[in-house]
Parts: sequence; structure tokens; C-alpha cells
Amino acid sequence: MENVIILGTGISGCTAAIYTARANLNPLIISGSEDGGQLTLTTDVENFPGFPNGVQGPELVQMAKKQAERFGTRFMVDIVTDFNPIEGGYELTLMGGDKLQTKTIIISTGASARWLGLPSEEKFKGRGVTTCATCDGAFFKDKEVIVIGGGDSAMEEAIFLTKFATKVTLIHRRSELRASKIMRDRAKNNSKIGYVWNSEVAEIFGDKLVSGVKLKNLETGEISDFKCDGVFLAIGHVPNTTIFQGKLDLDNHGYLKTDRFTNTNLPGVFAAGDVQDTRYRQAITAAGSGCQAAIEVEKYLVELE
Ligand code: NAP
Repeated sequence: MENVIILGTGISGCTAAIYTARANLNPLIISGSEDGGQLTLTTDVENFPGFPNGVQGPELVQMAKKQAERFGTRFMVDIVTDFNPIEGGYELTLMGGDKLQTKTIIISTGASARWLGLPSEEKFKGRGVTTCATCDGAFFKDKEVIVIGGGDSAMEEAIFLTKFATKVTLIHRRSELRASKIMRDRAKNNSKIGYVWNSEVAEIFGDKLVSGVKLKNLETGEISDFKCDGVFLAIGHVPNTTIFQGKLDLDNHGYLKTDRFTNTNLPGVFAAGDVQDTRYRQAITAAGSGCQAAIEVEKYLVELE
């Protein structure tokens, strides 16, 4: 039986791995479907301490992985499909049916991009509709694109896309942005970025590729066509907790409920990072809670013995 299995290789999982590996717990970390987590989908991270000139998100998580490896962490690329309590710990089922047993678990499965849920969005996924400017921005050189959302991610995506697109229009459902002042100002000072307020995308249309969207003005109810070649969604994230439904306590939005020591409602099961964070959702807080969970695992195993 393993001492500890960590679910998720984002910054939170990697930090938990560094700490549990240095505590000689020989951790096993399983990647899930989004290896490296949300940082792999961003560009400049300017607020992680220790990098006065910023660091690229993918590079930061890569360095954290290497650091975890250096102390003996074992990495496994696989997806956990089920989780059940057994005598003395827990059993995890992998996609191919193999089973792993462990005394403790750190869940750092993070959160994934939220989609609008429109049938037309489904039709044009990968044909002009995307949630990742870093991954797909270069396909929109000299094109016109829209970014949906009013938070920091939307500002970041819009600013990044101005490197390629001729025009970037932010579509927001309210008349004020949720984003931090620094990001709002940066977007405002970029002449390629325009705004459509109080509006939502009701439909995405095109032939093989996106050629525009139907916008609904939420104040007047008026529907109008808006021409664009790309639709970038930046409307937040949903926590990756499907396999824990009915097994661990979740809040109304599907986030894992934890106490201030990263405990879930089951003994020996801890959670860290965005999967349980409804408030901060920063790289540094994800890393911090990964460290906390690792220290709690260490204490729990000592008490178990
Ligand atoms: P967020 O702050 O939750 O913002 C999501 C945005 O999408 C909101 O403006 C929301 O509108 C809108 N929205 C949600 N559902 C929608 C729907 N169905 N249709 C249309 N619009 C919808 O998410 P985020 O921007 O991804 O940021 C998450 C966290 O990461 C935040 O704490 C943020 O500060 C942090 N972050 C920081 C940076 C940075 O510092 N550089 C970069 C990225 C993210 P309402 O405003 O009306 O709710």
C-alpha cells in the first residue's frame, strides 16, 4: 500500500509532492487529463514571489515537477476514475481498470475551463471556439476575435491575443469588469481592444469555421450579429470533482469542502489548490495549500502508526 497518492500535477500537486518526497514518504503523483494544470495554459505569471521579471506558467510548473522528481517523486500519466474507502486506506481505480491502494490521498485535481453550454459552441470547438489563447492565439493572425468574460483571465487572454489579431472585442454580461485594476488598465490602454457591455453570446455561427456570433443585449433583449473569426471563452472554471460526488462533501458549486488544515470529511483524504478554493485561486495559494496538505499527511501517518 502506498503512503500517499497525489492526484493532479498542477502547482498544488507538485508542491505536495516536493514536501512529501522530502519527508521520505515516496509519493506517487497521477497526472489526470490536464497534466501540469492551469499554469500550462497561461503565459506571464507576474505575481509568483521569487521571479522579479515574471515567469512563464508552463516553465514554472515544469520546474516544480523537476524539483519533485529530484527528491524521488514517482510520476504516472493516467486518469483516476473511481475512489473508495478500504481497510486501512483507500483504493483508486485507473482508467484501464488497474487499482492502487494508499493510506492517504491529496486531491489537487484543480479546476477546468467553464463553457457556455450552447449547442453551437460544441459544433465549433476547435474550429474557432477555444478556452486557451496561449494554445490557439497564433491561429488568429490578422483576424478579428472576441473574448467572453470580465475577470482577470479575460483581460489576460485579450491582451495576449492582440499580438496576433487585428481586433479583440471583450464581450461582458455586465457593465463593469470583475478584473483587478492593473489588468483592467492594461486592457484599457491597448488600442486593439474594444468592449461590448451587458451582452451575452446567444449563438455561434459559421460554415466550417466560426464567422460570427449572435449577441443578446441583456438590457434591451435585442439580438444582433457580430462578425468574428474566433471566440475565446474566459468565463471562469469548474472544479474537477466528478469522481468524488456522493463520496466526499462538496459545496453547492461542486468544490471540495475542507477545513483550515486541508482535511476533507474522510480521514486521510486531504485537498489542496483550486479544487477546494472558492476565494483566492492564485498559483501561490495553490502551492501553499499543497504544502499544508503534505504536512498534514505526514502528521496523519505518524499518528496512524
Ligand atoms: P472569474 O474571476 O470568476 O471571472 C469570470 C468572468 O466570467 C466574470 O466576469 C463572469 O461574469 C463571467 N462569466 C461567468 N460565467 C459566465 C457565463 N455563463 N456567461 C458569460 N460570462 C460569464 O474567473 P477568472 O477570470 O478565470 O479568474 C479566476 C481567478 O484567477 C481570479 O481570482 C483571478 O484574479 C485569478 N487570475 C489572476 C490573473 C492575474 O493576476 N494575472 C490572471 C488570471 C486569473 P460576472 O463578472 O458577471 O460574474
